[in-house]
Amino acid sequence: MAAKKTINQGVEWNYSPALESTSHVKLKSKYDLYIDGKWVKPQSKKYFKTINPANEEVLAEVAHANEKDVDLAVKAARKAYRNVWSKMAPSERAKYIYRIARLMQERAREFAVIESLDAGKVIRESRDVDVPLACNHFFYYAGWADKLQYAFPNRKVEALGVAGQIIPWNFPLLMAAWKIAPALAAGNTVVLKPAETTPLTALKLAEIIHDAGLPSGVVNIVTGYGDTGASIVNHPNVDKIAFTGSTGVGKIIQRAIAGTHKKSTLELGGKSANIIMDDAPIDQAVEGIVNGIFFNQGHVCCAGSRLFVQEGVAEKVIEKLKHRMDSLIVGDPLDKNTDIGAINSKDQLDIINGYVKIGNAEGAEMYQPKCKLPKSGFYCPPTLFMDVAQSSRLVQEEIFGPVLTIQTFRTVDEVLQKANNTPFGLAAGIWTDKGSRIFNLTTKLRAGVIWANTYNKFDPTSPFGGYKESGFGREGGLQGLGAYLKMN
Ligand code: ADP
Repeated sequence: MAAKKTINQGVEWNYSPALESTSHVKLKSKYDLYIDGKWVKPQSKKYFKTINPANEEVLAEVAHANEKDVDLAVKAARKAYRNVWSKMAPSERAKYIYRIARLMQERAREFAVIESLDAGKVIRESRDVDVPLACNHFFYYAGWADKLQYAFPNRKVEALGVAGQIIPWNFPLLMAAWKIAPALAAGNTVVLKPAETTPLTALKLAEIIHDAGLPSGVVNIVTGYGDTGASIVNHPNVDKIAFTGSTGVGKIIQRAIAGTHKKSTLELGGKSANIIMDDAPIDQAVEGIVNGIFFNQGHVCCAGSRLFVQEGVAEKVIEKLKHRMDSLIVGDPLDKNTDIGAINSKDQLDIINGYVKIGNAEGAEMYQPKCKLPKSGFYCPPTLFMDVAQSSRLVQEEIFGPVLTIQTFRTVDEVLQKANNTPFGLAAGIWTDKGSRIFNLTTKLRAGVIWANTYNKFDPTSPFGGYKESGFGREGGLQGLGAYLKMN
C-alpha cells in the first residue's frame, strides 16, 4: 500500500504504485507429486490449498503426500541412485546441475513473482536476493561435481545415497537450492518436501528439473504437512536428513533418527545479536539494523533480532532508527516500493502478535511507526521494544517477525556476556571502526556466522550454520558439499 510521506518542505506526497506484472506467470490450479520423473496423483487422494498471504486468495491446490507416497519417492530415488546417478561420470552430473541453473535463470522473473505471491515476501527481495542466490548455488556446486578429489584432497569420498530434505517457508526456493545442489553434486539422489504454506516454487523447480532432462527419480518433490516430513525422516531407506526449520521439530527429528545409520544436518532457529559499538559508522549501522531485522519481514533464522547498542551512542542510534522506520513502506509484496511485505501465514501473525502482547504486558517501551496496513492479508508493522530485560521472553525466544529488542551495554565484556546468553548460536553482527575489536568479538561470540559492518549477506561459497540449539552441520561452501559425502 502506497504510504503517505512528508518531505521537509511540508509537502505531502505519495508513491505511485509500481506493481510487478503477473501476466507471465504460469500456475496450474492443481499440483500432483513429482515422483520418478512424472507428475503422479497422491495415494492419499488428498490436496490442500496454498494461499497468497497478502490477500488470502487461493493460488493453487497441492497434493498432500502420505507414507505410501513418500515410500514411492524414496524407492524412485534409490533406483535412480543405484542404476543411473552413481554410475554417471561426475562431469556429466555437473552438466545437469549447470543446466538447472541456466533454466532457472532464464525463468527468474516468473520464479520471483511466484515466490512473492506464495510467501508474501517483497518482490525486490525475491527478485534481487532469493532467485539469483538460488541460481548461484546450482552454478557453484555444478563446478564442484567433477572435482571432489580436489575439494577433499587425500580423502576417498563417496556419495551417501538418498537424501531426505525438509525445508521451511521463509526462503522456499533458496532453501530448495541450498539442499538439492550440493546433494546432486556429491552424487546423491533426493526426496525434498517444501513447507506447506510455500510449495509453489519447489514445484516450479520440479518443472525445470524435468525440462533439464535430469534422469527420472534423481530429484523427487513431495508436498505436504509435518506428517509428510515425518514420513521422510522415519523412512528406513533414507541415508541422510537435511532439515531447516524450527528448533522444536529439529529435536523431534534428532530423537527419531537416533540409533539409525542416517546422517543429518539441522539448521534451526536463532536469536542473533547485532552489536553497535560507540565508534561505529552510525548511518550505515542503522541501515544494517533495518536490514538485519526487517529483511523478509523478519522471517529469517539469522535475523539480527537482538540489538545491543553501546550507551554513548544509544540515544542517537535509536532516534535515527525510529526515523528510518517511519519511512518503511508496509504493504503489497508485488509493489516495488514495498519494504515489508505480508507475514507468511495467519498462524505466524498470531505468534508475532502474541509476543507483542507479552512485551507490552512486561512493561517494555514499544515503538511502531504509524502505517496503514492493507485490509485483507496478514501484516505486522516494524516494531521496536526498548527497556527489555535479558530474561524477557522477547529477548530469549525466536519471534520470527519484524520485532526488534534493544538493550544497551557499557563494556565489551558486558555485551559478550549478554550476546552469548541465549540457547541459540546462529549469527551475529558487529559494527565498529576498529579491526581489532572485530577480531576480538568474533572469536568470543558463540555464533556460526558473524558479519562485521554488514548484515544478512549470503554467498554460495560461504558456509552457514549454527551452534547450540541453532543446530549443527554447515550448508554452502565446501563444508556444505562434505555434508553429503562419506569420507574415508
Ligand atoms: P516453522 O516453525 O518455521 O513453520 P517447522 O519446523 O514447523 O518450521 O517446519 C519446517 C518444515 O518442517 C516444514 O516443511 C514442515 O512441514 C516440516 N515439519 C513439521 N513437523 C515435522 C516433523 N515432525 N517431522 C518432519 N518435518 C516436519
